[in-house]
Amino acid sequence: MPAVILVTNDDGVHAAGLHALAAALDNLGDVYVVAPDREQSAVGHALTLHRPLRVTQVGERRFAVNGTPSDCVNLAVLGFLPERPVLVASGINHGSNLGDDVTYSGTVSAAMEGTLLGVPSMAVSQAGAGDTGLESAGTVARLVASRLLVEGLPAKTLLNVNVPAGPVSGIRMTRLGHRVYREKIVQETDPRGLPYYWIGAGPPEWNEDEGSDISAVNRGQASVTPLHLDLTHYGALGRMADWESGLNSLLKKRPR
Ligand code: MN
Repeated sequence: MPAVILVTNDDGVHAAGLHALAAALDNLGDVYVVAPDREQSAVGHALTLHRPLRVTQVGERRFAVNGTPSDCVNLAVLGFLPERPVLVASGINHGSNLGDDVTYSGTVSAAMEGTLLGVPSMAVSQAGAGDTGLESAGTVARLVASRLLVEGLPAKTLLNVNVPAGPVSGIRMTRLGHRVYREKIVQETDPRGLPYYWIGAGPPEWNEDEGSDISAVNRGQASVTPLHLDLTHYGALGRMADWESGLNSLLKKRPR
């Protein structure tokens, strides 16, 4: 029996990008789709813990869940699929997930969830809003997935793949780039005279640093970034060792 591959996304079970990714990975294994029943972009790593999850079969090996991308991966990996998948692939997201934006992304979070559950995982996103170019994104996804299935990934590591909107001139291994936070919040007044606020109103600005995912995609190249989920900064932990004694002596002096 061929290995099981889980495909999910955050744009919902009917998104064109999801179909393109499932088609691209077909015959690398038995592809199962378990995806949110509606758009869940920018939900990040949220889990649904306070209401039941329902699964609706919407096609052959294709299921819709009334939850988040991370819910879908949890459900699928921890028992809904006939066996544990050898790969979790999330996408193809409609729009890139680059640099500092990855933690907001439901697409990337689904791959993070797969990684935390011990399954090699990748997220795939396509720059630009339209459905054009999904085929080249699918080709890149398939190439990366094939290599990943042979070589595996280091512990706690996932791949974040971004494909440019137009033709793909190459594939680059990159690091995450950084946003320039120049935007201000927009404050307006509603019809009842109360203030309301709008965040993320302008297009994002990025540092143009060499070797980043952002500069690769801006140059028409697909970007593959290995992301590590051990968020501890070991250098800082070492340098801040003396905080412990300092904080403890203050804690002891404190009147109770
Ligand atoms: Mn999305």
